[in-house]
Amino acid sequence: MRPTAQKFLKANEILFSQGDTGDCAYIIEKGRVQIFFIKDKEEIPINILGEGEIFGEMSLIDNQNRSASAKAIEECTLLYVTREQLMERVQNADNIVKLLVRVLLKRMRQNTSLLTGEKNTSPIQKFVLSEEINSNAVTQIKFENEIFEAYHNKEFEIYLQPIVQTSDKKIIGVESLLRWISPSKGTIPTGTFIEVIENSSMILPIGYWIIEESFAHLKAIFDKISVNDRKSFMLSLNISGKQFNDSDLIAKFEEIRIRYGLSQKNIKIEITERVMLDGIIAIETLRKFRSLGYGISIDDFGTGFSSLQYLSQMPVTHLKLDRSFISKMTTDPKTKTIVQAIIFLAHGLGFETVAEGVETEEEFEVIKNLQSDYVQGYLTGRPIPLQELLKRL
Ligand code: C2E
Ligand code: CA
Ligand code: CA
Repeated sequence: MRPTAQKFLKANEILFSQGDTGDCAYIIEKGRVQIFFIKDKEEIPINILGEGEIFGEMSLIDNQNRSASAKAIEECTLLYVTREQLMERVQNADNIVKLLVRVLLKRMRQNTSLLTGEKNTSPIQKFVLSEEINSNAVTQIKFENEIFEAYHNKEFEIYLQPIVQTSDKKIIGVESLLRWISPSKGTIPTGTFIEVIENSSMILPIGYWIIEESFAHLKAIFDKISVNDRKSFMLSLNISGKQFNDSDLIAKFEEIRIRYGLSQKNIKIEITERVMLDGIIAIETLRKFRSLGYGISIDDFGTGFSSLQYLSQMPVTHLKLDRSFISKMTTDPKTKTIVQAIIFLAHGLGFETVAEGVETEEEFEVIKNLQSDYVQGYLTGRPIPLQELLKRL
């Protein structure tokens, strides 16, 4: 229940004492209030507050007992601020402000305990460390917020990069790639922000948006190409580790796919080796995807340090050779041998290969001789918006 709006205090009247549970804060309308500690039965004043100042808010926000006592120095009129009134405002504040409130409160609590000599008496070093962590958190949260805002402002787009058949450079599929096109900063390189998304809970809503958008694009492609070409056309989608923790992933994936009238055999999930090694949930989910008919591609193959043994046990259909091999292979014979070995290994295990990052005719010729099934790179097509891709089909 909300207390009456005002409280009147006589001079020297105690409002609350150190250790009390706090149920409301106060704004001084008239008069002055002293905040003090009791140490060795002695009052130690720490602050005198006057009109317009708020106090008693700390224990409401961090849910701890009153860290100090408050008494009127003279006759006072105070305005109540209830927990609800205060918390409503704190909760509606943006993340940075919330973080700052937390940091400041922690600081005040620590200062208080230094003064009173109660627990946490020597947290100076810890304190410095936590300040550093907090400032990183501020930068990170700020960037996260900026990204999420950009997503809400529809600054994200899905571009499609052609994947071609090595034999005749015919487009037989696309990889869907996220783009952030900021009205003020232009296109922001995906590599600079994708990890922030992947490491935060944003990956779930944004991840589903990517799936939805990519499937809509695939549907538009199908409306353009022949029935025969549709049979083998593949959309590749990057799915990150955290998305596999969502127990609804397959159900939602299926729901979106069915809504667009697409077949599982036209959709390929791209994951890195890390996801495979991350745990049983991801592997089980991948097995289910595979048994439903989806393709599974290992991205950036060869850049991790994982054992090759997992390859025989995993439900894989494609290996993607990382660009770092492709760009070195024309000048470094050893790298070329590695590429040859990977392609041989993949084919031996029944997988198809995609050579990623092919930029020159020379690289294309080498990769063709080494018999990679498909090529994806700037030479055969950069990532482009749907409308541009449709013109190339
Ligand atoms: P990735 O999955 O390995 O994607 C291939 C990256 O290589 C893309 O960069 C593509 O633009 C670039 N690329 C393709 N051909 C060439 C080439 O010939 N030369 C050069 N220099 N680069 C080439 P992009 O789009 O900047 O994406 C970077 C990474 O961000 C991706 O690497 C992927 O890990 C991640 N990413 C992009 N879109 C998504 C997404 O929708 N979801 C998730 N989870 N990750 C994404
Ligand atoms: Ca990829
Ligand atoms: Ca890759």
